[in-house]
Amino acid sequence: MEKAKYVFVTGGVVSSLGKGIVASSLGLLLQKRGLKVQNIKFDPYLNVDPGTMNPFQHGEVFVLDDGSETDLDLGHYERFLDQSQSRVNNVTTGQIYHTIITRERRGDYLGATVQVIPHVTEEIKNRLRSVARVADQPDVVIAEIGGTVGDIESLPFLEAIRQIGLEEGDRSVMFIHVTLVPYINTAGEFKTKPTQHSVKELREIGIQPHMLICRSAKPINDSLRQKISLFCSVPTRSVIVAEDVSTIYEVPLKFHHQEMDQIVCEHFGWQAPEPDLVAWEGLVDRIKNPAKRIKIAICGKYVNLKDAYKSIIESFIHAGVANDAEVNLVWVSSEDIKHAGPEKYLADIDGLLIPGGFGERGVEGKIEAIRYVRQHNIPFFGICLGMQCAVIEFARNVCGLSDAHSFEFYRDLKHPVIHLMADQEGVTELGGTMRLGAYPCLLEPQSRSYAAYGSSEITERHRHRYELNNAYRDMLARQGLLMAGLSPDQRLVEIVEIPSHPWFVGVQFHPELKSRLVRPHPLFREFVRAAVLYQDDRSGRMLRLEEPVDTSRSHG
Ligand code: GLN
Repeated sequence: MEKAKYVFVTGGVVSSLGKGIVASSLGLLLQKRGLKVQNIKFDPYLNVDPGTMNPFQHGEVFVLDDGSETDLDLGHYERFLDQSQSRVNNVTTGQIYHTIITRERRGDYLGATVQVIPHVTEEIKNRLRSVARVADQPDVVIAEIGGTVGDIESLPFLEAIRQIGLEEGDRSVMFIHVTLVPYINTAGEFKTKPTQHSVKELREIGIQPHMLICRSAKPINDSLRQKISLFCSVPTRSVIVAEDVSTIYEVPLKFHHQEMDQIVCEHFGWQAPEPDLVAWEGLVDRIKNPAKRIKIAICGKYVNLKDAYKSIIESFIHAGVANDAEVNLVWVSSEDIKHAGPEKYLADIDGLLIPGGFGERGVEGKIEAIRYVRQHNIPFFGICLGMQCAVIEFARNVCGLSDAHSFEFYRDLKHPVIHLMADQEGVTELGGTMRLGAYPCLLEPQSRSYAAYGSSEITERHRHRYELNNAYRDMLARQGLLMAGLSPDQRLVEIVEIPSHPWFVGVQFHPELKSRLVRPHPLFREFVRAAVLYQDDRSGRMLRLEEPVDTSRSHG
């Protein structure tokens, strides 16, 4: 077994260039060539993990099976490579320092002065090499360095990967730099200067990129690629263009056409077969050419920041492919619903999804929205807080407990239908203390969930502190709420459904974290199917209403 090779993906000019998509796309191409790939994301912030960070700033927290709370790029790795990640695949500056300071307090450094170089850089290299040694030894580790070249925070990581380049040798390490080539409308031309500067900055640190990924709004022609090649000392063939595309899943195909994976294989001296991308092309084609279009409303708190719901958005793309439908997401603020009523925003939708969340703001609007879709037989999918809101709504408006609420928001409640989980009592630290990661769940054979999964035992990923209060289970069930999924010890309700409704499912876990393009999540798939049926039914009904009455056939 040969030692693993390393590909480092850095970014320049601006943030949000899609380094995660670049790393995932390359990973997919190499995987399709039969190579074993591991991805790792280095995040240069001091938080130990993003679990305590505001989704407004950081986007979604991606929870893994092992319960680690990670960066949303790990979601891309999983969705592109159909490969589950673990806590070793995301490393933050906070974790590095935590390890070093713990060691220092223990006296492990034997009196040495502990410094960024060599101690921090050594620890970064250790983390990187530990990914190369995971059970199923990878042929290549693709490491993405968060942030932008030039940031103070990224420096120790760049220094560490420079050292890896020296230690492993040029043919074992490849540096890929993602930059922006802006198009200046008034001048009518592309500008390569930011790319030149960014590569210059990288070279000052001691890193000469082997490949550039040039992000741009429009296609870049060959003469411009030649110019970039000359100024940045990268072969023209390795100046890869990444113009904007309508779906991120097309990016690997665009890269393959430019021989990105071939260049990487040549660099490492691999004789790997051409990747078979036929199935992937088929999926991308289905994303781009759907037969139907449906409208799903997402009612949440962060409707302006789509990154907070990244996995949900992707899950709908996967579920859309499975149903040959494009899912148009309509973002509705729960506060607007509260002020103007649900009718205004939800009258012409084909389904409603309420995502997870924390804090009371917007909860009443969500409950109003759920009441509306329950009463109008519109498909409903509630996730985590969305499920809890559905239980509150049902308790209030079906069971008549008008002051039902969640213990998360009010402590002296008459009817806390959502309660703190027993093992959360006394927990005071915020970081990493929720019920996190994969847990098994047993499904009720008569449920829609069972029909969707086609199996009675599932595992799903969690991230919550509160649960359906068992004291109210019987009452809710008597009034028609099915406890469709329970933890194996029966103590936690994981899924609720309303069997008399066309499709009303609330889940305590986060199904969106397990959906992948090649394997859409069963519940998203069935929710979208229900929405398509609802739309058919609705347009049928409208047609019937609009049809003039045919009097010629009437008798008498
Ligand atoms: N705030 C709720 C809880 O902690 C829901 C969490 C979530 O939606 N992720 O239980």
